[in-house]
Amino acid sequence: MKIGVAGLGAMGAAIAARLIDVGHQVSVWNRSDDKAKPLVDAGATVAASPAALADGCDTVITMLTDGPALDAVYEGPGGLLSGNVKDKLFIDMSTVPPKVSIDLAAKVRGAGAAFVECPVGGSTAPARQGKLLGLMGGEPADAARAKPIMEQLCRRVEHCGPVGSGAAMKLAINLPLMVAWQAYGEAFAIARTVGWEPKRLLDLFVESNGANNALKMRADMIVTMLEGRDPGATTFSIANGVKDLRTMVETGEAFGADMRATKAALSGFEDAVQQGNSGQDGSRMAVYWADRGR
Ligand code: NAP
Repeated sequence: MKIGVAGLGAMGAAIAARLIDVGHQVSVWNRSDDKAKPLVDAGATVAASPAALADGCDTVITMLTDGPALDAVYEGPGGLLSGNVKDKLFIDMSTVPPKVSIDLAAKVRGAGAAFVECPVGGSTAPARQGKLLGLMGGEPADAARAKPIMEQLCRRVEHCGPVGSGAAMKLAINLPLMVAWQAYGEAFAIARTVGWEPKRLLDLFVESNGANNALKMRADMIVTMLEGRDPGATTFSIANGVKDLRTMVETGEAFGADMRATKAALSGFEDAVQQGNSGQDGSRMAVYWADRGR
């Protein structure tokens, strides 16, 4: 199948690489063009604009930061919706508020194409291996059309309901993870006073009931950071953590929920951004907060 991917950040690039691996003809577009090179080396073609991407593909996947990025890529000059989109399928995998997704779906349908949202749980490694958790929202016929593609990217795809329900479920499943990074920072601020080596400390934490999968998977990275060494590439940035936590607070409050723990985590993440950590991996929060004020 001819699949286009617009947005070649950490996740979009991993998704495009996975789609090439499983045999699709993949075409890509990104705002800054330096990110396409490794994918071209792997067999992708590059479209000159989002409109050209839509012209040349049956299905287009978007994986972008937020609502304004979606506006720019779908509706800006040379945007996806100015291409030949009739009867084509658009799958937006970005993490955005339900309302952004619902409004975008109406615009895509208005242009004569089909739309599903499918934000995902899991980061770049699961994306590369086709092991994400897909949270789809869309009309049943559109969801059925998108499912075979999403099943090549995900270990499990849940059709949550109409557009907006996948976005809401994604925010919900991600919330404990984001709050936990702040909690680990506060926990390590206490634990470090005991004076153990970082490796011993993480070995103990991953054995405890409070250890989530993200802590287990990033334990080595956290040891590296606690030892003051470079942990390598960012898979999920603290800047995107701020964006997600803000969206969680706004979405929860719109539903009448008291979001006090999420707000506290948000203020911790904002503090890390103010101190120049926006491009660092989210797991850096566990180290940044433990070291803060020492
Ligand atoms: P990222 O590495 O920061 O990439 C963001 C992408 O959005 C880049 O391609 C960027 O283009 C593009 N973009 C941003 N603003 C734009 C604009 N105004 N116009 C056009 N393009 C724009 O982020 P990511 O980690 O891949 O995350 C992408 C989405 O997936 C986010 O919604 C995030 O919350 C979600 N997500 C991330 C993870 C993860 O582990 N990383 C996991 C699940 C979901 P440039 O390259 O030109 O900047």
